[in-house]
Amino acid sequence: MSTLHSDNFATNAIHSGSAADANTGAVIPPISLSTTYKQESIGIHKGFEYSRSANPNRNDFETLLTSLEAGSEETIAFSSGSAATAAAAQWASLSEDEGGARTVEDIAQGRKSHILSINDVYGGTYRYLARVAKSTGNLEASFLDFDKAGKDGIREAIKENTKVIWIESPTNPMLILPPITLISDIVASLPETRRPIILVDNTFLSPYFSNPLTLGADVCLHSISKYINGHSDVIMGALSIRRGLGYKLSQGLRFLQNSSGGIPSPFDCYLASRGAKTLPLRALKHGLNALEVAAALSQDSRIAKVSYPGLASSPYYERAVGSLSKQAKKDLAKLGWDVEALDAKAGVINGVLQPERSHSGVGALHKQGIPFSGMISIRLRSHNPSDTEANHAVTDKFLTSLRLFSLAESLGGVESLAEAPWKMTHGSIPEAQRLELGIDPCLVRLSVGIEDVDDLLADIRQALEVAYAKG
Ligand SMILES: *Cc1c(COP(=O)(O)O)cnc(C)c1O
Repeated sequence: MSTLHSDNFATNAIHSGSAADANTGAVIPPISLSTTYKQESIGIHKGFEYSRSANPNRNDFETLLTSLEAGSEETIAFSSGSAATAAAAQWASLSEDEGGARTVEDIAQGRKSHILSINDVYGGTYRYLARVAKSTGNLEASFLDFDKAGKDGIREAIKENTKVIWIESPTNPMLILPPITLISDIVASLPETRRPIILVDNTFLSPYFSNPLTLGADVCLHSISKYINGHSDVIMGALSIRRGLGYKLSQGLRFLQNSSGGIPSPFDCYLASRGAKTLPLRALKHGLNALEVAAALSQDSRIAKVSYPGLASSPYYERAVGSLSKQAKKDLAKLGWDVEALDAKAGVINGVLQPERSHSGVGALHKQGIPFSGMISIRLRSHNPSDTEANHAVTDKFLTSLRLFSLAESLGGVESLAEAPWKMTHGSIPEAQRLELGIDPCLVRLSVGIEDVDDLLADIRQALEVAYAKG
């Protein structure tokens, strides 16, 4: 197995979990639809008994993602990113003898398990942690702005019963990069018996741009529905576990995968494996396009703010550079980026945030910043920020005037999408909280696809013309 993981990213993407079929020589593994497997004698079989417990296409996909998510030992696939979220949360309250986090002492004392989550979190994750987890009885969650809290605030927020620290990098939709290494340093300073695991939702970057398990995280969550499948035709999720993690996490999560039954279909695993073969090509192109769009829009007077951590002017630029994966740096070096200069900045993924700088917006792309996923958030300029209705109308006009960007939720597919988090992806978060996070009617989230970037820019500009037309 390990030899499959020893190649470089793009090679693993093609070959890992994609061995020729032993029976027919088919270069692409067939889709294995059988629900059950014939046994030679009682309990003697080829590793497959019933397709919920294990399936060849699912195994192949799990092997593939393990090879792509650097630092991981094992990947466990689910029927959606949300099912992976539910499993990771359930793990926190599963008893230790089942591979979970709840100790004999926790149970004896009737102590709930606590999840400390970043406050700007995927809408569905917030909904699960705030509303579903609570009703299961043994779980509680709280939400924190890690940068605002700082070192002492974070340490204080980690309680005796905190089992999981849940972060997204970047967050959605504000594209904040939390201080992962600071959080992992704080956790490492706690007594071994009460260290929570650190889970990073790596959906927005994909394993191509960043590998949180090499930065101090213990588990990576992916919505495969986004960049990894990449073609907007599969809903699937996965958890990848760090190599050498002392916890019995693998046992507990496999137990939950099998007993909760939220497994992906063989066909979806096949499609996701096929999609992932081109992840390095797609991710790089998404990033190059997004950087160019972000740099151009930062010069447009109709746009009040562009959030893209890869822009050299972003407060999160140093953190973005510091969390770039080995394979992304290798590709950038070949495209003319000065990777040594980037590495010189890369110490800074800890608590220190850079001030927002003005963006020059001119010159070669490698002077603008770095490609860092295809996700951009922009704030449309408003004459009166408190006039919710008027602002909503401008945003709606803009979004419905786009020709190439479809007005739709989701992200990470080859086609460009645009949406208004206020009413769409983040509508389930209470209004006061949305406003506190900066999610208001002026905010637009772009998922920049891999079309020709000149066409994309022309499309955005013509839609801005329409949205801001007088009368
Ligand atoms: C989409 C998404 C999820 C949920 O995944 P589904 O596959 O839609 O269930 C979780 N986290 C992030 C960051 C996402 O974008």
